[in-house]
This record gives sequence, C-alpha cells and structure tokens, in this order.
Amino acid sequence: MPTEMRGHVVARALYDELRQVLAGLSYVPALRVVRLGNDPASVSYTRLKDKRARELGMDSKVIALPEETSEAELLGLIAELNEDDGVDGILVQLPLPAHVDEGRVIEAISPAKDVDGFHPYNVGRLWAGQETLEPCTPAGIIRILDHYGVDLEGREAVIVGRSNIVGKPLASLLLRRNATVTVAHSRTRDLAEVTRRAEVLVAAVGRPRFITPEMVREGAVLIDVGISRVGEDLVGDIDPAAHGKSSAYTPVPGGVGPMTVAMLLANTVKAARHRRR
Ligand code: NAP
Repeated sequence: MPTEMRGHVVARALYDELRQVLAGLSYVPALRVVRLGNDPASVSYTRLKDKRARELGMDSKVIALPEETSEAELLGLIAELNEDDGVDGILVQLPLPAHVDEGRVIEAISPAKDVDGFHPYNVGRLWAGQETLEPCTPAGIIRILDHYGVDLEGREAVIVGRSNIVGKPLASLLLRRNATVTVAHSRTRDLAEVTRRAEVLVAAVGRPRFITPEMVREGAVLIDVGISRVGEDLVGDIDPAAHGKSSAYTPVPGGVGPMTVAMLLANTVKAARHRRR
C-alpha cells in the first residue's frame, strides 16, 4: 500500500516547533499581508495566512487595498513597511491586478523581510546554495519528503512546471539534496517518457488530473502541487488513479497546501530572528 503523505500532519508538527521557538523570543514577530482587490481566492489565502499567524500568537495584519490602487501607492506602502522596524515579514498576495508590475513590486520588498522568498536577491542566494528565505511551497515539499523519510540522494526527480514560485525553486532545493533533476514544461517533447523516468515526480501545472497512471513509474513518490476547483471539489494535477502505482503520494486537499502557509510563518520567524539578533 502506498503511503499517504499528509501535509496537514507535517504542518501541525511545524506549528508545534514554531510555538516553542516563539515562546523563547523576547519579541513578537510581525507579518504584514498586503492584498489589492477582492479576488475570492486571494481573500481566502490572505485570511488563512493571517489566521494561522494569529493562532501562533504572532502580530499579523492584512492590509487590504482597493483594486484600483496605483503601483506608486503600493510601492509607497512597501517602502513604509520596509522602514518600519517593528515589521519582520512582508507578503504581497499574488496575482496583482494587470496595471501593477509584479516584478517591480517584488523587487521593492526588502530582501530581509521577503517571507515569500521571491526577491531576486533571495532567488540568487537560493541558487548559490546560500542560506536564505526559501519560497514556501517548495520548502514545504522538502519538509514533507523529509518527514516521510524519502531519500533524495542520487534519485531521478522530475518536476512538471517551471514557475518562479514552485518549479524553479524546487529544482534548486532538490539539487541541493543531490537529486538528479529534470524540469519539464509545456514545450517538453514526449512528456510521458520524461515523467516515467521519475522516482520522485512533482506536478505543478494547474491542470486537473493531468498526470495519468501511464505517465507514472512503478513505485514513484508523487507530489501533487496543483489545486483546481472542479465543481465543488478541489482537484490536483495527478489523477488519483495513479496513486496505486506509487510508493507514496500527497493527497489534494491536505497535501502540499497546508505546508505553504506553515512555511510562510516559519519564514517570518526566521526573518525576525535574523533581523533582530
Ligand atoms: P503556473 O505559473 O501557471 O505554471 C504552470 C507550469 O505548468 C508552467 O511552467 C507551464 O509550462 C506548465 N504547463 C502547462 N501546461 C503544460 C503541459 N501541457 N505540459 C507540461 N507542462 C505544462 O503555475 P504555478 O503557479 O506553478 O501553480 C501550479 C499549480 O499549483 C496551480 O494549480 C496552483 O494553484 C498550484 N499551487 C499550489 C500551491 C499550494 O500551496 N499547494 C502553491 C502554489 C501553486 P510553460 O512554462 O511552458 O508555460
């Protein structure tokens, strides 16, 4: 029987760890989550991040701005938060409305407070193998693999998807663990042939049930990052029919998702300890 790798269990263990760390600090780490507009997914993500941070006893606020907020206004707010010595972590919820340049906004956040790990300075440090604030979803995936004792040394890992928030940073983290990493994308030829090589297969595509059983190697470890709404259900990128061929898999929901928020709070604590030491 394959092992179900339950992200919410791993997240709970991380929250317990963070609670202990927080109890030993002489200050309360502060997180500011900035949102433009009222896109339902963004509202629910920002609420969840704020809720979990508060549950841990952190100082958290969502700063909700109108959709039509100009880029200059947003950059002004980020400059204020950068300057504010009481703020440890700044997160701007993506995607931003089309009139705002995401790259410019990400670059405006102080790298020391960039708890999403998206600033080019932190991206560079990640690829250079230096200590940094790692992007939350990839870092959460590594934590799940560690928790369930998946050995990555020398193994064939295939990531389908090359986004800046998942595929690319995860490639860097897997390389650091000495996996042999292939990153596939929409222009990859004969994708099934590539995915069938994978001892660890990560799907970060955003297409429901995109990875079919024929694309999976017998005994592979399957990590499903995708979340799509199909009717009332949340559906991953990996067809659950493929789970039977795996040695271990993450379910959707309850797999990678809960780890993303947990790692964000771990990053906020890390940023605070680094800045206030
Ligand atoms: P994204 O930026 O849309 O990237 C999707 C990637 O999939 C791209 O690299 C794209 O290739 C590739 N792709 C698309 N169609 C493909 C095809 N037919 N064959 C091979 N590759 C294909 O997505 P993302 O932000 O990384 O997110 C991916 C999914 O993960 C989404 O469902 C998202 O909601 C979910 N997600 C979940 C969490 C979590 O916490 N669980 C966090 C982040 C994202 P090209 O580069 O060639 O276009």
